[in-house]
Amino acid sequence: ASRLDAVEQAPPDPILGVSEAFKKDTSPDKLNLGVGAYRTEELQPYVLKVVRKAEERMLAKDENKEYLPIEGLASFRQATVELLLGADSPAIQEGRVAVLQSLSGTGSLRVGAEFIAKFMPGTVAYISRPTWGNHKNIFADAGVEWREYSYFDPESIGLDFEGMLADLQAAPDGSVVLLHGCAHNPTGVDPTKEQWARIADVLQAKGHLPFFDVAYQGFATGSLEEDAFAPRYFVERGLEFAVAQSYSKNLGLYAERVGAMSFVLSEAGAAQRVLSQMKRIARAIYSNPPVHGARIVAEVVGSEEMFGEWKGEMEMMAGRIKGVRQDLYDALVEINPDKDWSFVLKQIGMFTFTGMTPQQCDNMTNKWHVYMTKDGRLSLAGLSSAKAAYLARAIDDSVR
Ligand code: PMP
Repeated sequence: ASRLDAVEQAPPDPILGVSEAFKKDTSPDKLNLGVGAYRTEELQPYVLKVVRKAEERMLAKDENKEYLPIEGLASFRQATVELLLGADSPAIQEGRVAVLQSLSGTGSLRVGAEFIAKFMPGTVAYISRPTWGNHKNIFADAGVEWREYSYFDPESIGLDFEGMLADLQAAPDGSVVLLHGCAHNPTGVDPTKEQWARIADVLQAKGHLPFFDVAYQGFATGSLEEDAFAPRYFVERGLEFAVAQSYSKNLGLYAERVGAMSFVLSEAGAAQRVLSQMKRIARAIYSNPPVHGARIVAEVVGSEEMFGEWKGEMEMMAGRIKGVRQDLYDALVEINPDKDWSFVLKQIGMFTFTGMTPQQCDNMTNKWHVYMTKDGRLSLAGLSSAKAAYLARAIDDSVR
C-alpha cells in the first residue's frame, strides 16, 4: 500500500485528453479536430519556414545557454509588446508597460492570476460563458474566484451583447474581466469595433480591470495589426489593463512555450513596481523562462525581411482555414439544404462552435472517428479540403 492510496485519478483534460484518445483510434477516417493546432492540407504539423530560417541564423551565431534574466530576453520583450500595441504606442514610449516573458499563454495567464490573488485579494475574475476550458483551472488554482458573464447567444449563434453588458454592469466595481483579444475560443464570435467601444465605456465606468487573453493574434483576420485592435483601442481610451500573449498558434511555437504577461498602466513608476512583483512570482514557480523560442521571436520580429515573411505565412495559414470553412459550409448545404448552416461562415478564427450536445459529440467520435471537445467545438485548423465532405456527413448525421 502507498501512503498516497487516497489520491484519486484526475479526469482527463477536456482538450488534450481528446488527442490521447485520437492516437489510440486505428480507423483510416479518423480526424483530430480537438486541439487548436494548425495542420497542412495533408494534415501534418507545420513548422513555419520563417521559424526554420530564424533557427538557422541562431545556430550560426553559436549563442550560449546561460540563464535568461527572470523577466526574460530583452529583445523578445520589446518585440512582443510592439507586436501587440504598435511600436509607436504612447504606452511603450512612456515606459508604462510591465512585460514579463513567461511560459506561453497558459503560464502568462497563471502569473497574471497569481498577481491578482496577491495584490488584489478578494477580487473576482469574470470570464465569458463559454470560454477556453483552462481559464477556470488557472484562476481557481491561483486562488482567484471566477464567475461567468453572458457572451454567447445560441439562438443567433452570435454575441449576447446586451447580456454581456448587463453582467459587467452588475459585477462588483473593480472586478477583473477576462476578454479574448480576438478570435474568441470556442465560439469564433468577436465584438465589433462599435461594441468594443461600449464594452470600454462599462469597464471604465465600473473601474473594472480588463485582462486580455491574446492567443490568436493574426488568426481572426489574417492580419497581425487588425487583430490587435481591441488592446490598442483600450490604450487610446486611457484604460489600464493586463494582457497575456502566446506565440503557440501564430508562429506555430506550441512546444517552445513562448509568450508574455504584461500590464499596461498609466504611470511608468507603477509599471516598474508591477514588473518587480511579477518577477518575484515567476522566480518561485519556474525561476526564468526558456530562451530558444524567445530568440526565434526576436529574430523574426526584429528583421524587416523575416517579419514580412511571417505575415505572408500567417495569411496563408488563416487563408487555408477560411478555405476549409467554406468547403465545410458548401458540403453541409449540399447534404442538407433545408438547414441553416450560415453560422459556419459567420464564425472566425480556428474554430467552429456547432451547438452539438455531448451525446451528439459522442456520435461524432464513436461512429465517425471525429475527435472534438464535448462543448461542440471543432478545430478547423485540423481539417483538410479533402475531408470536408466526410466531416459534413458526420455533422449532419449527428445533429439529425
Ligand atoms: N488562451 C486561449 C483562449 C487558448 O485557446 C490557448 C491555446 N489553446 C491559450 C490561451 C494558451 O495556449 P498556450 O499556453 O499554448 O500559449
